[in-house]
Amino acid sequence: MDIPYEEIERHLNRPVFKLVSQAADEINMECYVIGGYVRDIFLHRPSKDIDFVAVGNGIALAKAVAKKMGRQSKVNIYRNFGTAQVKYKGYDLEFVGARKESYNHDSRKPIVEDGTLEDDLKRRDFTINALALCLNSNRYGELVDYFDGLQDLENGIIRSPLDPNITFSDDPLRMMRAIRFASQLGFDIYPETFDAITANKERITIVSAERITDELNKILLSPKPSVGFVLQEKTGLLDLIFPELAALKGVENRDGIQHKDNFYHTLAVLDNIARKSDNLWLRWAALLHDIGKPATKRWDYHVGWTFHNHNHVGGKMVPKIFRRMRLPLNEKMKYVQKMVILHMRPMQLVDDQVTDSALRRLLFDAGDDIDDLMMLCEADVTTKNPEKARLYLRNFAMVRNKLKEIEEKDRIRNFQPPVNGNEIMETFGLSPGKEVGILKSAIKEAILDGKIPNEHDAAYRFMLEKAKEMGLKPRQ
Ligand code: ATP
Repeated sequence: MDIPYEEIERHLNRPVFKLVSQAADEINMECYVIGGYVRDIFLHRPSKDIDFVAVGNGIALAKAVAKKMGRQSKVNIYRNFGTAQVKYKGYDLEFVGARKESYNHDSRKPIVEDGTLEDDLKRRDFTINALALCLNSNRYGELVDYFDGLQDLENGIIRSPLDPNITFSDDPLRMMRAIRFASQLGFDIYPETFDAITANKERITIVSAERITDELNKILLSPKPSVGFVLQEKTGLLDLIFPELAALKGVENRDGIQHKDNFYHTLAVLDNIARKSDNLWLRWAALLHDIGKPATKRWDYHVGWTFHNHNHVGGKMVPKIFRRMRLPLNEKMKYVQKMVILHMRPMQLVDDQVTDSALRRLLFDAGDDIDDLMMLCEADVTTKNPEKARLYLRNFAMVRNKLKEIEEKDRIRNFQPPVNGNEIMETFGLSPGKEVGILKSAIKEAILDGKIPNEHDAAYRFMLEKAKEMGLKPRQ
């Protein structure tokens, strides 16, 4: 591939590079832009994170750069890692000295020594990440590409610069990074590199859950996330890091009746959602929506394969998976859990005979997430039969309309009880306790059932009646 000089020049004309170049020249140090930033120049993916390698002391270069920037620039030094960071006009600049690494079997932490630029590029994970641009004025913009990274970028190939078995055994996180880059960029993993992932997959067990989850999130956020999950499956990594998802694989046949492969169905749903939304948590919900299916699968002589209650069983699995993967156990988890539990409900409302009460209950349970839930249900339509797909989508459009009508009328989405606990206590001179709860929930149920409108006065009258039945009298 020809070197795209214009592209390089356009980037290196920016003041930030001129500044680093002058600082490096002044202290007589060889210096390069390296790694992801260089890769992303050629992929037209603008980035604000820039890594610099100095052949010498990276911290000294960072200090010289900050000095040139003026008084207000601060250098954050990480002595343990031999790196330094400087912020500049929205850019995050990282400086490190060129290094050589060797590994010990039980840890991802390398033994580090000073090295040449070539040593430094050899320790990089993939050829596309091992490109460097020289910044010293006598070689300004010169591309260093020892491993044909530019060619691999053009061909869309993920390949390790050295023997991939050593690369992956040294730092098994790189296996997840290979798959993540393939998924983000739509690249292929080079056959030898792919085989080495399969051969070294067990090494993933030394990588922390946090690091694996970082990569899973990036895969989920990629344009077609199924690419990353299929690769995890094909290399055997999936069984090790996500057994619940791996358990969705496969079909079973009895008396000529076969259920669908829930792994590939899940991935189709995920890709459908990815076309509609960038919300990471909605993507997690798509990934986990059928996670309860293997545990609930039964063969019924009369109806064939069933997965009764898989949404609730799946909902219970969500916190366990989130805890193990070090995902947040906050409202994000609750949102994913809610989506998994509710994902069957809109389908049960497609019937013409559906009552307003059922629609109100769904609005109440889904709250503000109702639109996301409808999006998930529509993404869940993966039938290959175009007739059926059209019918299902039309039915969901009808449910959406009905939900809209009910919401305009009854405002259930952000339900706030029209008579609250305080008013109940005031009216009957009660202190907090069981009776207040019973009255509150009776009011809510009456509204959801359509017995009374969602309004204060009607709810107040209903409360008085209900209280009478309970033997409660209003205070005088
Ligand atoms: P992204 O910003 O999308 O996460 P990146 O490759 O740009 O991807 P970093 O993770 O910051 O971002 O890595 C910067 C560079 O450091 C990479 O391009 C690569 O050269 C090198 N690198 C990062 N992690 C590893 C690793 N585990 N093994 C070898 N080289 C690595």
